[in-house]
Amino acid sequence: MTKLNNFPILPNDENVIGIIGGGQLGKMIALSASKAGYKTHLYCPKGDNPAEAVVDKITHGQWNDYNRLVEFSNEVICATSEFENIPSKSLELLSNKTKVVPSSLVFRCAQIRSKEKEMAIKSGFNTPKWFLIKNTDDLISSIKELTKAGILKTNSLGYDGKGQLNIDKNSNFFEAWENLGSVECVLEEKLEFKREISLMYFKSLDDTEGFFPLSENFHENGILKKTSAPAYLDSKIELDLKTKAKRLAQNLNFYGVLAIELFELLDGSIIFNEIAPRPHNSFHWTLNGCNSSQFDILVRTICGLPVKDVECSGKWEMTNLIGNDVNNINLYKDQNYILHIYGKKNVKAGRKMGHYNRNIS
Ligand code: ADP
Ligand code: MG
Repeated sequence: MTKLNNFPILPNDENVIGIIGGGQLGKMIALSASKAGYKTHLYCPKGDNPAEAVVDKITHGQWNDYNRLVEFSNEVICATSEFENIPSKSLELLSNKTKVVPSSLVFRCAQIRSKEKEMAIKSGFNTPKWFLIKNTDDLISSIKELTKAGILKTNSLGYDGKGQLNIDKNSNFFEAWENLGSVECVLEEKLEFKREISLMYFKSLDDTEGFFPLSENFHENGILKKTSAPAYLDSKIELDLKTKAKRLAQNLNFYGVLAIELFELLDGSIIFNEIAPRPHNSFHWTLNGCNSSQFDILVRTICGLPVKDVECSGKWEMTNLIGNDVNNINLYKDQNYILHIYGKKNVKAGRKMGHYNRNIS
């Protein structure tokens, strides 16, 4: 297959979009691609993969199975990853064969908390006070620098609040270090915030760009429970935030959709938490609240179709169905709950099984 570098990529049987990762994000990307007329090809290890139900072709392989990855790359015109922890070496290999959006450099930055914080600071954001922790000596000396309690997070591979724990001057540092697997960590000051918000920026390969309206997020035990949108911010603060987000995207030479998680402090200032270079749970409301969802926009960006700011109609709320929530029969009886059930076979505590959107305006 010829690998076009000239855009846009139009939908036809030749132009197959590669999706790396078989979870719910992969499923929703594939549904948007299919709606827009594109064929999709999924790459993921064998398992309980909801995306398999809706793609045109599947290649099963481990994340570092280079032969399988090359086979996959030969069959797609471009590829995007829904799986944040894809080894950057695998993405680099794919980039030699096909157009990969976002790039391996972007994923590498998002995978390592200390790197993403450095990049955020370089782009003008403030972060919580933080320290790179390579051993228990670092932990003991850094904790003295905090005026408040802290959170210790593994430097890589954390998600949904996993790989982190609360810590303060009275904690058993050796136990804390071991509980996180004795790996490189970051220690962060635990902030008292007014609310958590998230921003989504996007940029197409044709260099057009835009934002979704802001989301306001409610977490329980480190895992997102609810989002309401659009969230309102003072217009000057919002403009400043968007300027910094664009600078961050420029510094990363970013294409695709980029979520930025933020804290709004009691005094109204905004603090950077982390980025996700892929569709984000806090923008699932866009599936029903906007003319183009975050998945529709991702497809446009990787195919080089023009994009612009997305607006929404009314006020929306998204609620995650975690573990057994998905078996609550009442949800299914009310048409106002717009259900998105991922179709995972195994229900597990803490596992995201689906979500529903509700117009609350
Ligand atoms: P994950 O990669 O698991 O999403 P996060 O760093 O986003 O990790 O942490 C998950 C949640 O934990 C955040 O959304 C927030 O509710 C809480 N949290 C994380 N860091 C801090 C902090 N420095 N201060 C206060 N709360 C925090
Ligand atoms: Mg997070």
